[in-house]
Amino acid sequence: MLILNLDHGPRARAGGAKYAQGRLLRWDTIDYECLTLGLAVQARALSVLPQHVKLDREWQGSRQIPFDYLVVATGTRLVQPAGMRHDDKLSSVAYLQNHQNDVKKAKSILIAGGGAVGVQMATDLKEFYPEKEITVVQSRPQLMSGFHEGLHELVKERFDELGIKFVTGARVKIPAEGYPTEGGAFNVELTNGTQLSTEFVICATGQTPNNGLISELTPSTSESLINPDNGFIRIRPTMQFLDPKYSNLFAVGDIADTGLRKAARPGSAQAAVVAKNIQAMIEGKSPEDVFPRMPAAIHLTLGMVS
Ligand SMILES: Cc1cc2nc3c(=O)[nH]c(=O)nc-3n(C[C@H](O)[C@H](O)[C@H](O)COP(=O)(O)OP(=O)(O)OC[C@H]3O[C@@H](n4cnc5c(N)ncnc54)[C@H](O)[C@@H]3O)c2cc1C
Repeated sequence: MLILNLDHGPRARAGGAKYAQGRLLRWDTIDYECLTLGLAVQARALSVLPQHVKLDREWQGSRQIPFDYLVVATGTRLVQPAGMRHDDKLSSVAYLQNHQNDVKKAKSILIAGGGAVGVQMATDLKEFYPEKEITVVQSRPQLMSGFHEGLHELVKERFDELGIKFVTGARVKIPAEGYPTEGGAFNVELTNGTQLSTEFVICATGQTPNNGLISELTPSTSESLINPDNGFIRIRPTMQFLDPKYSNLFAVGDIADTGLRKAARPGSAQAAVVAKNIQAMIEGKSPEDVFPRMPAAIHLTLGMVS
């Protein structure tokens, strides 16, 4: 059974093997077979307990769903605008339209973060709006810092071609109250002591693991179920929780502490491993399939045409 909070699907689900980046899919088209078989529930899972999941609404007369095996595939949360505040499509579309209007009226835009999201957003924006001044601020010495340094050079070449400015080795000091959106110029403070003037800021500062779901589970040892260094769920090579008390619980995709780059391709491969291992356990065998260690790779666009 699939439990999903959204009435639309902005990204891929490792378990669903559907990939729809950049589009909002209708809930009833996401997992059509699951829905017709009555195997999908549109609800937010509030917490996982050893034998059941608590929901935010009733399903078939109860707010609890019991399980023998459970797979946590809650992924990560993005900062706005990429991460949306609401679970429903109407509010999410309205939110994005509002963001589009803010972008349209700004003469200059500063993007905080020079990873894949920041780089793709900068190149798309500059192609759509060549007259706007676009600046990327990246905390590390390189753009796309998780990858080979040659990628920094490729991105830099494209930035120069399009006229995108960038600063590396400095962080944007994001104020707690956020940045103004009413239009008009304001200053953005960087950790290197400089200030940049802009009319709009877009944050592309990364992802936070959606790990709150398992906060009510007690670990059997002093070791936490979550890796304190990064917030991802500790797993075995079989994708079962690392804690021996929870052998029937699995984590898959972005939320699993695999040490791999977070991407749809490794997530899909992991989903197949989980399916085989659960099947083996149901048949009374031991789970032996292990997730593949794929090298880091990315399909990166540098604007709409390149
Ligand atoms: C801008 C961007 C571009 C990307 N481009 C690529 C790319 O080109 N190629 C690539 O391979 N990967 C790409 N990725 C990465 C890819 O999207 C992720 O690796 C993939 O979506 C991870 O899948 P997942 O199923 O683990 O998590 P997610 O896709 O994050 O899915 C988790 C789902 O769980 C739901 N959920 C969370 N908590 C609850 C709850 N409590 N109850 C019910 N439902 C819940 C969420 O709403 C979400 O729909 C990109 C990511 C981003 C942000």
